[in-house]
Amino acid sequence: TLHSKTAVVTGSTSGIGLAIARALAQAGANVVLNGFGDADAIETERAGIEREFGVKALHSPADMAKPAEIEAMIRLAERSFGGVDILVNNAGIQFVSPVENFPVEKWDQILAINLSSAFHAIRAAVPGMKARKWGRIVNTASAHSLVASPFKSAYVAAKHGIAGLTKTVALEVAADGITVNCISPGYVWTPLVEKQIPDTMKARNMTKEQVINDVFLEAQPTKQFVTVDQVAALAVFLCSDAASQMTGANIAMDGGWTAV
Ligand code: NAD
Repeated sequence: TLHSKTAVVTGSTSGIGLAIARALAQAGANVVLNGFGDADAIETERAGIEREFGVKALHSPADMAKPAEIEAMIRLAERSFGGVDILVNNAGIQFVSPVENFPVEKWDQILAINLSSAFHAIRAAVPGMKARKWGRIVNTASAHSLVASPFKSAYVAAKHGIAGLTKTVALEVAADGITVNCISPGYVWTPLVEKQIPDTMKARNMTKEQVINDVFLEAQPTKQFVTVDQVAALAVFLCSDAASQMTGANIAMDGGWTAV
């Protein structure tokens, strides 16, 4: 159980991050939610987590593209709950375009949010974890940390970067009771996936049904989407004592995609 632990989950107002935050709260951790969205909806979710799971929950609106706001989010968690024991670097965005038309500002934004934000959050949280001799860092990578798909140059580069950052930091903190791992989901049905349907239709000249079946599920031998709750269950496992000897691992949950 994670009672008396505190978890910061970036990008947790939606999709995979929200499911991870709820699962960690269910396991007893206080949680710091982060991400954008409708203020009332976020407050309803935050208060609901406190009520449902008997833990404390905060929301930080920190923009993961802004290093100073990332550090402030970690300090807020430390001030409010006494430390950050679990850090889940999950915030991420996608943009689909041939490389020669890829907007330069989209490249910069994806590298900042999907990769550099994890560096800044880890940098801010590790000293406290070292001092307490316990920590869990879980990064949401992607099947695209292991293999590529066309038209996703920034995303694939950032996710391969997350896999490398995971291994490097795991080695640095291995003797401090801190584990660092990444989870690499295949296609999970979330707003991030739904939103890339129109651009993929354009880039590949396909219908919506063709994108779902011939692009998304084509990659997954099981022909099924991964669920957010399945990813969350793995994240909770990685935070448990049973996983204390798992570190530097990149764990696929992709319906067989990367086995091909
Ligand atoms: P989502 O769009 O449902 O959620 C993304 C979250 O990130 C939201 O809470 C959003 O507000 C937040 N966010 C976006 N930009 C932010 C910023 N600048 N600062 C702070 N928060 C920000 O997406 P998701 O599918 O749940 O994706 C979560 C993670 O999982 C991402 O890193 C994504 O790359 C990864 N992933 C998703 C899939 C999939 O198929 N959905 C597969 C593999 C990996």
